[in-house]
Amino acid sequence: ASGYSLLRDPRHNKGLAFTEKERDAHHLRGLLPPAVATQQLQEKRLMQNIRQYQLPLQKFIAMIELQERNERLFYKLLIENVTELLPIVYTPTVGEACQKYGSIFRRPQGLYISLKEKGKIVEVLKNWPQKSIQVIVVTDGERILGLGDLGCQGMGISVGKLSLYAALGGVRPSACLPIAIDVGTNNEKLLNDEFYIGLKQRRATGKEYYELVHEFMMAVKQNYGEKVLIQFEDFANHNAFELLAKYRTSHLVFNDDIQGTASVVLAGVVSALKLIGGTLADHTFLFLGAGEAGTGIAELIAYEVSKQTNVPIEETRKKIWLVDSKGLIVRSRKDSLPHFKKPWAHEHQPVKDLLSAVKAIKPTVLIGSSGVGRTFTKEVIEAMSSINQKPLIMALSNPTSQSECTAEEAYTWSKGRAIFASGSPFDPFKYKGKTFVPGQANNAYIFPGFGLGILISGAVRVHDDMLLAAAEALAAQVSKENYDKGMIYPPFSSIRKISAHIAANVAAKAYELGLATRRPRPADLVKYAESSMYSPVY
Ligand code: NAP
Ligand code: MN
Repeated sequence: ASGYSLLRDPRHNKGLAFTEKERDAHHLRGLLPPAVATQQLQEKRLMQNIRQYQLPLQKFIAMIELQERNERLFYKLLIENVTELLPIVYTPTVGEACQKYGSIFRRPQGLYISLKEKGKIVEVLKNWPQKSIQVIVVTDGERILGLGDLGCQGMGISVGKLSLYAALGGVRPSACLPIAIDVGTNNEKLLNDEFYIGLKQRRATGKEYYELVHEFMMAVKQNYGEKVLIQFEDFANHNAFELLAKYRTSHLVFNDDIQGTASVVLAGVVSALKLIGGTLADHTFLFLGAGEAGTGIAELIAYEVSKQTNVPIEETRKKIWLVDSKGLIVRSRKDSLPHFKKPWAHEHQPVKDLLSAVKAIKPTVLIGSSGVGRTFTKEVIEAMSSINQKPLIMALSNPTSQSECTAEEAYTWSKGRAIFASGSPFDPFKYKGKTFVPGQANNAYIFPGFGLGILISGAVRVHDDMLLAAAEALAAQVSKENYDKGMIYPPFSSIRKISAHIAANVAAKAYELGLATRRPRPADLVKYAESSMYSPVY
């Protein structure tokens, strides 16, 4: 592009930062005011503008508009101000944005594949302007964060996740493709909303649903080959486990809610051992929520303990307990449980609520993965604190409104003894003169580096050992200084370095497992990961 259309091309536009020479060469004379700005000056101006908005959603819209106008500046801003801007382009604000996606809709930022496109998905993929795609994030919108069915408006999550792939993991934005599969929605509010942008019908299920997804999976492979990473995002659990099981042997697929979450939480627990003591095998885990996140984490912890101790996984699972909407998962409920809960149905009498379960199981680690806010009550935190000198409490549910408890509650109710991390960010909290910095247990630590590791090794399948490798690399990035503040994760401000280490460890594991196809294997994988990262500098 040149001239006027260059200024309308977000990938190449630099706005006022086009130099005198470029203005001559690209027919930009007169199309721009005379001042020439540096990228730093543009950054300063935009941050000033964004900070003037009161509402997070206004900041979100300003960021989206920047992304559509000047992509490199968008990424520069996000990378340099990650702590400030992550809560805008990602949880919690992205949740609100998805709820209101129809009314704030500007331009399509990804590909919409609805039941109307059935039979034509290969052609639909060809309509996307970029041909060499490396990472796809796809959602069907049925379980967006802890906000439920948002139908087609789940697109906001696919877009947000991929912005993080580029900003935090250094994957080229042009190689990223956000997709929303629209099979309808059961959300009455959206069905009655005149601004809703999706199909106004109830969700297709069964054969109709699986056929559309299958056509999509085949079309992706046909268009982009074996080595495109497909991340399943925010599918409801009745489909998520099935799709992962179905496609993990034929495609390069990864379910972020099951696998990415498992890896980030395992990293947090391993890192927390420095503060709470013991080995992983010494601890007893209790989950509130036995869905994708809960059972995914539970399984990866059991797998890691089994590897560390040489004890069969059937045994190591026994120190992990889960509570769902019907109470503690126990043996007597086994017949009525879906398959992903069955491994957790241990011998115990029925227990109906979380507080009773805490008292009965006496866990050392409490993990919230229910999507329901305010469920770690004062009584629950106090019970955890009476059992443990330093209870590890992880409130994973997003967005902030669904967090099982706040940082303030965890620190106050435990009298400053809890080690706390949450899925959505909380500000540092001062309790009795000491400042506690809560960690953010969010899969955003893992998937960008994990994806980069897959790309740089040319891995063709995802193996659970690669998730362990990612967790190990993340845990190793926590410093003494971080621990002193009560943090069990390193700060997001160093995320690019963290991602490079995760990528290197994941790639090393892919080579070790014989799943890597890039030859020769780079000698220094950390350096190679760093040098492969996208840079948004003009
Ligand atoms: P999911 O598969 O739908 O699972 C939710 C689980 O919570 C189900 O087992 C459900 O019970 C249980 N539950 C619901 N209400 C409950 C209640 N009142 N009491 C006890 N249990 C209850 O969802 P998911 O994918 O696991 O996600 C859950 C939450 O985790 C969401 O808020 C999501 O945003 C968050 N998450 C966070 C991260 C992160 O990185 N921090 C990553 C992924 C997900 P039934 O099985 O009986 O229905
Ligand atoms: Mn998710």
